[in-house]
Amino acid sequence: MKFETRAIHAGQLPDPTTGAVIVPVYQTSTFAQDGLGVHKGYEYSRSGNPTRFALEQAVASLEEGKFGLAFASGLAATAAVLNLFQSGDNIVVGDDLYGGTYRLFEKVYKKFGITPTFVDFDDLAAFKKAIQPNTKMVWIETPTNPLLKLIDIQALAKITKKAGVLLAVDNTFASPYFQKPLLLGADIVVHSTTKYIAGHSDLIGGAIVVNNEEMYQQLKFYQNATGAVPGPWDCWLAIRGLRTLSVRMREHDHNGRYLAAFLNTHPKVKKVYYPGLTDHPQHKLAKKQMGGFGGMISIELKGGLKAVEAFVKELRIFRLGESLGGVESLMTYPAKMSHGSVPREERLARGITDEFLRISVGIENKEDLKEDLARALKAIGKRP
Ligand SMILES: *Cc1c(COP(=O)(O)O)cnc(C)c1O
Repeated sequence: MKFETRAIHAGQLPDPTTGAVIVPVYQTSTFAQDGLGVHKGYEYSRSGNPTRFALEQAVASLEEGKFGLAFASGLAATAAVLNLFQSGDNIVVGDDLYGGTYRLFEKVYKKFGITPTFVDFDDLAAFKKAIQPNTKMVWIETPTNPLLKLIDIQALAKITKKAGVLLAVDNTFASPYFQKPLLLGADIVVHSTTKYIAGHSDLIGGAIVVNNEEMYQQLKFYQNATGAVPGPWDCWLAIRGLRTLSVRMREHDHNGRYLAAFLNTHPKVKKVYYPGLTDHPQHKLAKKQMGGFGGMISIELKGGLKAVEAFVKELRIFRLGESLGGVESLMTYPAKMSHGSVPREERLARGITDEFLRISVGIENKEDLKEDLARALKAIGKRP
């Protein structure tokens, strides 16, 4: 079955007890047992819940992986992956990544002896060089948040396979509609389902997809043992969202290309980061590795913080706020929002300047969105 069909049917068989076409919200903490140790596969909703199971199967199917697990957030999913390791282990991490993921590596797991080595994302050879005898995993995002850099997953998977370490890919930005890391050789895929998968900015959630059954059982153990599971309502909403993932992603991509091209020629914009632009340094790789370029665009304005302030004040449709991947357009100021937890010097060194903005292009009408940006750009440099 093709992607669009799986999104609507995978894990979503009619309810066995009533025939309900839509997976019900099993809002229950526990399940009555027929006898001592005799049950229908569910005992307690931290360990397993039918609505959650449907979501887990659906996400696994979209990633073309065998096993899925759902979590209370993307970071809870990432933490579950990190629970696979122990003190003394090393993880090689691409240096351009979501601020909260950086914080989890650097401020939480490091103190338990799981050390991250951050490497220059632009240099495949640097990954190879950074892998040490105690390295257990390489962790990357592609495209990255917020610089929209790409890495060749297939080439990196060759390196990790040869070195005998795992490759984990945070696939939040591309979504499985545009990129399937497991098919390119990755071992673990992680999602913040908060973003494109659920797609409506109405929940926080995460997921992991793997092919290896033993690893799945280990991750499932940590899911239950640490307990960061999503509630049935959030799982239901995530399923509701992912059923339309393909149509939404096509629109995000369509609008993204249109607005990136507009911004790229605008005199008040210093730089546009979008893999769909032919001048993006990895445009060719994007075309090879991804089925589309998506709706994430980052820009640098001319005129520093003042320009940013004037610009965001004039926006009417774009909402200023954290997050991405919803049907509505959002504008994020990473320096103070998503990457507020990254030290300033580190942030600047990575190119996230004070005039840097990240745009999550929604699926509103593209002309309305362009007009909104054009008006706000006009306000830059005007006397109040
Ligand atoms: C938002 C995000 C996360 C964290 O997910 P939460 O659901 O907020 O915990 C991880 N990675 C990326 C790329 C993200 O955008």
